[in-house]
Amino acid sequence: KKIRVGIVFGGRSGEHEVSLASAQAVMNNLDPEKYEVVPLGITKSGQWLLGTEPAKLIASGQSVDSQAEDANQTVTSVTFTGDPTVGHLIPIEGQQGLGDDGKIDVIFPVLHGTYGEDGTLQGLLEMANVPYVGCGVLGAAVGMDKEKMKMIFESAHLPNVKYLVFRRNQWERSPEDILDQIEEQLGYPNFVKPVNLGSSVGINKAHDREELAHAMRVAAEYDRKIIIEQNINCREFECAVLGNDEPLASVIGEVIASNEFYDYNAKYIDNKSQVIIPADIPQQTSEEMRRYAVEAFLALDLSGLSRVDFFIDKDSGKVYINEVNTLPGFTEISMYPKLWAASGVPYTELLDRLIELALERYQDRQ
Ligand code: ATP
Ligand code: MG
Ligand code: MG
Ligand code: MG
Repeated sequence: KKIRVGIVFGGRSGEHEVSLASAQAVMNNLDPEKYEVVPLGITKSGQWLLGTEPAKLIASGQSVDSQAEDANQTVTSVTFTGDPTVGHLIPIEGQQGLGDDGKIDVIFPVLHGTYGEDGTLQGLLEMANVPYVGCGVLGAAVGMDKEKMKMIFESAHLPNVKYLVFRRNQWERSPEDILDQIEEQLGYPNFVKPVNLGSSVGINKAHDREELAHAMRVAAEYDRKIIIEQNINCREFECAVLGNDEPLASVIGEVIASNEFYDYNAKYIDNKSQVIIPADIPQQTSEEMRRYAVEAFLALDLSGLSRVDFFIDKDSGKVYINEVNTLPGFTEISMYPKLWAASGVPYTELLDRLIELALERYQDRQ
């Protein structure tokens, strides 16, 4: 009997479009002999879609809220019924998209950013008693919050870039004081980021006070917490981690961004950024990064998968851990699957392994 895999994608996130591309790639690469795929699309406004609607969501590359309103396959609410042995995901309406009994064996969240990569969907799936790919609630939530993530990196003695965090209300109350503090403690240039985001959305590099003030205003639009980091004049590297309690690290890849930094445009629009796999660095350095990647994965209590991003300071040669991404980009040309392909695990096998890990974790959860 085939395993029925629910692919959840889209969603209320700044990375909605990236998720559509990742989900399409995952669906194309799941072995049809082993799996039956049930696409579960979520529009930008948070509406769940079933049946043929999710395909339209992908095709349109954007929200289909308006079309969905009068489509009979729109799912206005999703009900989860707990079953001690098998997860159920039974929409109240519009069961056309599901097979006869409407059961889903495992959910593969292919969502990036808020409401998907951040523990929210994971919490819903825990309550519904459905196995799912990737991190649990805690790992997903700390992996998305750059402040908490860095606090845990520090306590695990992982080499962290110096940073400051302010709340939006602090920034609005006394902007000049905050600019002074950042200038004194971090200097220029520096990086200003919304704490809970991804794909470089809302991130700016500031070279002077005026740019810093602008960058703070932008980040404050995206999040109530803003993180500011010292700039590292760096080369950038990524490592893919796969596993649960005995995670494995892939070979290291280098990213050569087409812009001054690896911004949204360099990631998804201009097609000029390059990746070099394996990275041209001394073996000792790549071993160091692979070790940090596994340590970070365990320190943050991650499971399934994660892409761990690193910098090497061009001036000092020092390695820094930048961040983890618990649901990294998953298109055929995304770094996570490419790093595993280069490490001997092709895309389709990688999906098999992730689904096995999801089922193992579900068995181990008590
Ligand atoms: P994603 O989740 O897509 O990997 P993100 O939105 O979580 O990205 P970061 O990885 O933190 O954002 O930063 C995006 C890019 O900005 C980095 O890949 C790097 O090019 C640049 N960058 C971020 N922080 C620094 C820093 N402290 N020094 C130098 N460059 C930085
Ligand atoms: Mg990230
Ligand atoms: Mg990300
Ligand atoms: Mg990153």
